Amino acid sequence: MAFIEARNLRKLYGRGGNLVTAIGGLSFTIEAGEFVGIMGPSGAGKSTLLNLLATLDQPTSGEVLIDQENLTYLSKAALAKFRRQRLGFIFQDFNLLPGLTVEENIVLPLTLAHTPLAQIQTACQTVSRILGLTDLLTAAPDEISLGQQQRVACARAMITQPQLLFADEPTGSLDSQAATELLQYLTAINQREHTTILLVTHDAFTASFCQRIIFIKDGMLFAELRRQKTRAAF
Ligand code: ADP
Ligand code: ADP
Repeated sequence: MAFIEARNLRKLYGRGGNLVTAIGGLSFTIEAGEFVGIMGPSGAGKSTLLNLLATLDQPTSGEVLIDQENLTYLSKAALAKFRRQRLGFIFQDFNLLPGLTVEENIVLPLTLAHTPLAQIQTACQTVSRILGLTDLLTAAPDEISLGQQQRVACARAMITQPQLLFADEPTGSLDSQAATELLQYLTAINQREHTTILLVTHDAFTASFCQRIIFIKDGMLFAELRRQKTRAAF
């Protein structure tokens, strides 16, 4: 049974005579536990597709199902709850809150969900240790490097232990060492926790960590690649 199913997804931007077809009728499925990359030239519709699958944007027509739940028919409130409980997001520009410490940023999803404090502390210790952030918890986001900021964004996305993680150009701002570390971490949670990962990238090195690559061009599927051998987790 498919974990993610896109059914004839279509997304148009603009209105009147000025419509841009960002996604032109895409159908495909992704299985639970897959590590999938979406690639394609600039303007191909990669970010739009990711946002549609991640429920951050509504399709003009077509449907998205995640774990057999048809998101088209969920109310706004139900969708927000679904997203909070089951999905994680990592963005290229991190979206860290500058007025909060690293620790406060990491635990934000749990704080917003009114998770008991003891549970928040345990979860924070675990993700901080895995991502090498333990010594940075009291720092402000602007006091740490870009690679560290991206790890904080990753910790925040992972702290709710989502089944499904979305990332838009997660390594776009990172030097090669920081990118490698982040990708090794994503590989580890994919293999150990069976987290399904879907990322957008235009970078071949990042794509080399994916099991399957979906190429899109002009909002349509263009090609697809599956690798037999996956990288070992570090
Ligand atoms: P990619 O991520 O592959 O670069 P995008 O999904 O950002 O592609 O964009 C796909 C197409 O949709 C492009 O032509 C882009 O200009 C257009 N587009 C994206 N977002 C918007 C928007 N909010 N309003 C109008 N056009 C948009
Ligand atoms: P990327 O290639 O990483 O998606 P873009 O520069 O295409 O970056 O888009 C950055 C943001 O601007 C996205 O949120 C996208 O939705 C929006 N955007 C892209 N193209 C347009 C457009 N033609 N009109 C309005 N917003 C757009």
